[in-house]
Amino acid sequence: MSQIKNYKMYVDGKWIESSSGKKIETLNPENNKVWASVPEANEKDVNLAVNAAQKAFENSWSKMHPRDRAKYLRELANQLRQNAEHLGKIETIDTGKLFRETKTQANYIAEYYDYFAGLADKVEGTVVPIDKDNMQVVTTRIPIGVVAAIIPWNSQMLLTAVKLAPALAMGNTVVIKASELAPVTLLEFAKLVENSGIPKGVVNVITGLGEPCGKALTTHNLVERIAFTGGPDTAKHIIKNSAENLSQVSLELGGKSPVVVFKDADQENALNGITAGIFGASGQSCIAGSRLYLQKDIYDDFLNKLIKKAEKIKLGSPMDKDAQMGPLNSFKQLEIIEKNIKATIDQGGKLRCGGKRSKISNEGYYFPPTIIECENHNLPTAENELFGPVLSVMKFNTEEEAINKMNDNKYGLSSGVYTMNFARAMRVSKSVRAGIVFVNTYRLISPMAPFGGIKDSGYGKEAGIESIKEYTRIKTTWYNSSEKPMSDPFTMG
Ligand code: NAD
Repeated sequence: MSQIKNYKMYVDGKWIESSSGKKIETLNPENNKVWASVPEANEKDVNLAVNAAQKAFENSWSKMHPRDRAKYLRELANQLRQNAEHLGKIETIDTGKLFRETKTQANYIAEYYDYFAGLADKVEGTVVPIDKDNMQVVTTRIPIGVVAAIIPWNSQMLLTAVKLAPALAMGNTVVIKASELAPVTLLEFAKLVENSGIPKGVVNVITGLGEPCGKALTTHNLVERIAFTGGPDTAKHIIKNSAENLSQVSLELGGKSPVVVFKDADQENALNGITAGIFGASGQSCIAGSRLYLQKDIYDDFLNKLIKKAEKIKLGSPMDKDAQMGPLNSFKQLEIIEKNIKATIDQGGKLRCGGKRSKISNEGYYFPPTIIECENHNLPTAENELFGPVLSVMKFNTEEEAINKMNDNKYGLSSGVYTMNFARAMRVSKSVRAGIVFVNTYRLISPMAPFGGIKDSGYGKEAGIESIKEYTRIKTTWYNSSEKPMSDPFTMG
């Protein structure tokens, strides 16, 4: 039996166990075996991390010139590039995501640190054209303080980068809480933080359960900003928690992203985009295009082509370079998916491919690409975020109907439009109520492109120039340039 790796948390520049000595065991989704254990942080450990971050904020980081903070971010980017392969491997064992993808992503994540390093000394204040004589009023952008970054199990390197890089660039210090479902990647990342020379206490990485650890962090009285990515139910707890410390909150939540294909679409392009959008990362992506609307005229033909493509997808070990889809992250998720598929079929949904647990190997959480035809999008697989490779397909006639159906959605994170008619592409993309619209493409990210949703998909944007300001507050300073003393407030007239 292979050895279980024992990890420690990174707090105040030191590697520590939890004060209770308790551990969380983490499973390899490929074979359902425990492969590592991490500390289970409690309130005391959270307090230690937050106090370290507060001290680092006051003593050094917030006072450092942005240009100097940027040097550390660039070094962290270098560390990421040099260690992308190792980090990718760990993330694959931790999450079940394909090594090909995790390695490439780890490398690309470096771009985020470089991007925000470049922005660090470019955030300027204003001079206010004030309506008072002899007064000069200026605004400056100041750091907020200690940031609590709550990270889900998937795409954790990316979801950490879009919080950590702008937060650090602007002079904040950070406590990152990794997900209990895949906690190791961020502890390996913390080693790179240490190697990059970032002063102790500026970045702390802790591991623990949603409660007590996540709760203690998001209610802590020294935390001033919460950056959360995760599910909508947890988000409601986060908002309640923030009532304790009146923190500023940003929420990046899930989605049920609609994709529409018009009869004039480039079919090969649409087939590839849809496949990447729902079966990439086994559908475990917040922007997964999981609701597909096909125009009536092409419905049967397009759907048959899509099914053929889905059936060819090769499931396999995420370390295998030929595998196109790995396992899901957890057994619980697999059961939720199965339950939703069954309920959909019971309510009239027509299963066209997949739908049953894959027998490919050794207890892993493998589930095949699944396509279900649905009469309408109120059926469970078409309505609930499943975080798995399940595509619900519906029919539409007119452009107006397509727009209405796309917008009849409690979420509003991503969306996709496939058409070769430019005017239609503009009309539909303008009308869709979602934070992101992909036109004739899908599943792209960049440090330069704002990312985030509307409606139940949350609020606040990550990545892009504007997002750096979400880690600052405006300070207004009044300068009196008059030689005369101020008038006595108690002398009337
Ligand atoms: P989750 O909501 O279960 O957990 C997210 C994090 O919140 C974990 O670290 C967890 O420990 C923590 N948490 C749980 N309870 C808490 C509490 N009471 N207080 C503080 N923290 C608490 O999400 P998950 O299952 O890890 O990830 C999947 C979800 O994340 C999906 O809904 C997915 O759509 C969403 N997601 C969104 C985006 C995006 O950018 N919009 C990206 C990736 C994932």
